[in-house]
Amino acid sequence: MNPVDCEDVKRNVHEFLHAQMQTGQQEDITAHLANCESCEEHYDIEVVFNQVIQRSCDEAPAEELAQRVMQRLREVQVHD
Ligand SMILES: [Zn+2]
Repeated sequence: MNPVDCEDVKRNVHEFLHAQMQTGQQEDITAHLANCESCEEHYDIEVVFNQVIQRSCDEAPAEELAQRVMQRLREVQVHD
């Protein structure tokens, strides 16, 4: 395994969530997330973002969707 820093994780989080990275790289990122609070926080937000997109994309126009996502992200940050 190669050590990854926070910037690597944040750069790759989308690929990570969509399982688009190579297996070894995915393990490196998972290991970093398990030990890094700041990245874990960032990762949780990305997960919420993706869930909102998936739930909303069939029913909402793009502009409304974007507003809903931003609203949800603000809620997450407040409750933190
Ligand atoms: Zn980190």
